[in-house]
This record gives sequence, C-alpha cells and structure tokens, in this order.
Amino acid sequence: MTSMIARVDKDRCIMAGNCMFTSPNVFTQDDDGFVELLTTEVAPEDAEGARDAARSCPGSAIFLD
Ligand code: SF4
Repeated sequence: MTSMIARVDKDRCIMAGNCMFTSPNVFTQDDDGFVELLTTEVAPEDAEGARDAARSCPGSAIFLD
C-alpha cells in the first residue's frame, strides 16, 4: 500500500491551528505558530484526519499526495 505524503506551505499558513487539533499525529506548530509536520509519511490510520485537516485549513496550506 502506498503511503500518503503530506506537505505544507508555511507561507500560506495563517496559524489558525485547526490542523494540529484535527490531526495531531501529523501536524504541530513551530515556535512562531506556523504549521510544522511531525512526519511527511502519513500512517494509514491518520489519513482520514489529515484529509480533514487539509479540507478545513483556512489558508489552503496543506497538500496530500
Ligand atoms: S490549519 Fe492551515 S492555516 Fe491553520 S495552522 Fe494548520 S496549516 Fe496553518
């Protein structure tokens, strides 16, 4: 099974914090409040949460392949 790969664009992140609540195994905040990835390879059990995070990101800063 192919893993889902996550990428983020910090330039688009508006620090809303939704992603880290929706998918805390994949997303966190750096010291400045911008999104940071805990992993680029999303585990199968985290895939649905990561998709929800990407959908609800107000900055459209999350990309999943
Ligand atoms: S939900 Fe989007 S805008 Fe909010 S912290 Fe995460 S990446 Fe940034």
